[in-house]
Amino acid sequence: MSTGSNIEISASLLRTLHRIHRQLTDLRGQLSRGPRQIKAGEAMVAKAQADLDELQEKLKKTKLASDEKQLQLKSREARIVEINVKLNTAASNREFTTFKEQIAADEQANSVLSDEILEGLEYIDELQAELDSLKSELDKQKSEHEQRVVDVHAKMERLRSELERVEAELVETEKQIPSAVRPDYERLTASKGEEALAPIDGDSCGGCYQTLTTQVMSQLQLSRLVRCPNCNAFLYLPENRRVT
Ligand SMILES: [Zn+2]
Repeated sequence: MSTGSNIEISASLLRTLHRIHRQLTDLRGQLSRGPRQIKAGEAMVAKAQADLDELQEKLKKTKLASDEKQLQLKSREARIVEINVKLNTAASNREFTTFKEQIAADEQANSVLSDEILEGLEYIDELQAELDSLKSELDKQKSEHEQRVVDVHAKMERLRSELERVEAELVETEKQIPSAVRPDYERLTASKGEEALAPIDGDSCGGCYQTLTTQVMSQLQLSRLVRCPNCNAFLYLPENRRVT
């Protein structure tokens, strides 16, 4: 279609239509963000839960290893007691020395093991403290998320009713569009949304910044329907350049 026409259309109608289409884009965009915000919140809660589970597993393994070492320590201590009893019944000096060496070796091993057990218990305390902080982090994430869900739903409720209102306003306003323009308008808004309309910006199209010819500009001054030769948008003069 040609960019110019002889159809008259008021700049104020086009301005209003464009304002409504922009509002619709904005409202729909905000509405689509709602579920994404909830999903992001759920991911944060899941992350906090996974961190906690991981640490709980680590603590469990560390405690098991520590129990194992304490059992080992006790059984070696018991063996030392047994060998000490045998010392008195040693049949020879050589046997006596062997028992003494066994006791010394077990005592040495137990001393190393005791140090390891102590270190292990300190580590368990650290993990326990870390676990407590992860638990409170999870509680915090959960309660923040609960509030988030309430807030997002309330906001979406408001947005939906606002959207309904603006959609009704659009239907009303569209009734003023000259019938010769309607098919093009409907096709263009269906495919381009708010970009189906563009204000003049200086001597350019405000949608695509194509410089417009003086012929296009003078048609606009005459309140003729003009479309941008580049992006096809319905052009209109902004409020501060109203022609009377
Ligand atoms: Zn354009």
